[in-house]
Amino acid sequence: MSEASANSKERKEIKVSTIILPENKNFESETLKYEIKIPNWLLENIENFELSNNKNDSNQNLIVKAFKVAYEAHNGQLRASGEPYIIHPIAVADLLKEIGASSSVIAAGLLHDVVEDTRIDLSDIEVNFGLEVKVLVEGVTKLGGIHFNNRTEAQAENLRKMFLAMASDIRVVLVKLADRLHNMRTIQWLNQERQERIARETREIYAPLANRLGINRFKWELEDLAFKFLEPEEYKNLKEQIAVKRSDREKRLTVTLDLMKENLVSSGLKNFEITGRPKHLYGIWSKMERQQKQFSEIYDVAALRIIVSNSDSCYKALAVVHDTFKPIPGRFKDYIGLPKPNGYQSLHTSVIGKHRPVEVQIRTTSMHQIAEFGI
Ligand code: MN
Repeated sequence: MSEASANSKERKEIKVSTIILPENKNFESETLKYEIKIPNWLLENIENFELSNNKNDSNQNLIVKAFKVAYEAHNGQLRASGEPYIIHPIAVADLLKEIGASSSVIAAGLLHDVVEDTRIDLSDIEVNFGLEVKVLVEGVTKLGGIHFNNRTEAQAENLRKMFLAMASDIRVVLVKLADRLHNMRTIQWLNQERQERIARETREIYAPLANRLGINRFKWELEDLAFKFLEPEEYKNLKEQIAVKRSDREKRLTVTLDLMKENLVSSGLKNFEITGRPKHLYGIWSKMERQQKQFSEIYDVAALRIIVSNSDSCYKALAVVHDTFKPIPGRFKDYIGLPKPNGYQSLHTSVIGKHRPVEVQIRTTSMHQIAEFGI
C-alpha cells in the first residue's frame, strides 16, 4: 500500500465514543424507549474495555469496537418486529460465541449487516478492524445477495457461489448460519410468503450446511423452526402429543438413566456424565414420515447421552449399556472407528430400556464439542 493511500484511509477511522453502561446494564435506544439486552460475556468485555487504559488491538477490544460501531451505525434502524436493529447483530454474535468462534468471527457477526444497511463501507471496516474481519464481512455481504428460490438452474448456480464462498473461508458460512438462525427465530414478523420462502431455503440449504459442518447446535434448531413454519399443523400436533406423554416418558427415562448410572459406577468407570435429552421435533417427524408411522409408534423420542474422558472408556461404557439393557439388533453404529464425513464421532446404540427402546450415544468430551459446535 502506498503512503498516500494509507494516509487517506487513516482519516476515515471511525470515532467511537465511550459508552457508559447504565445502572441496569441495559442500553436504551435513543429513538425508542427499548431496553436492549446485552449478553453477559459482551457486557464484561465492554466493562473491561472502558476500565482499561490500554485500548490497543487485543481480541477483546476488537469485539467491543465492533459492537460500538455496529451500535452507532444501526442506530435508528428497526427490525420487522419494531425492535432496534442492533438486537440482531448482537444475537448473531452471541450464537457465534456459543459455538466457540474466534474474536474476528464474532466481530464480523456484529458488523455483518453494516455494509449492506449503513453508511459504513468495506474499506472503513478494513481500516478499523483489519483485513481478516473485512474479508469475513465482505463474504457475508456477498452471500446475502444470494437467494435460493427453487430447485432450478439458478439455484445450482447459487449453490456453486455458496460453496465457493465456503472454500475461500468457511468462517463466512458460520456467520451466515448464525444470521439465518436468528432470522428464523424472529420470522413471525414477516409476511407469510417470505416466511415460507425463507423457511424452505433454511430446510433445503442452511440446515444441511450446518449438518455438513457438524454444527448440531444450529442444525436442529434450524430444522425445528423450518418445520414450525412449513408444516404448522403437523408441528403443533406433534408438540401437543409430546407434551401429553412427557411426564410418563420422563419418569421412564429417569428410571433407565438411574439404573445405567449405577451400573456404570459399579463397573469402575470414572469421570463420566450421563444425561437424558428429548429428540428435536423435526427429527421425530421426519422419522414418522420416513417410516410411515404414527407418533404412538415412535418410541425412542428420547435419548441418553454418556460422555466419558477417552475413547477406550466409550467401548467400556458400551459394554455396560449392553449388559444393563437388551440391545436392539442392527442399531449399533461405531462412528468412532468410522467417523461421519463431517468429522462426527460417537458410538450409537438402541436398547430396550424400561419397556421402551431408548437411543444411547456414547462419546468423549472432545467428540462432544465437535458434535455440537463443529470443527
Ligand atoms: Mn443479518
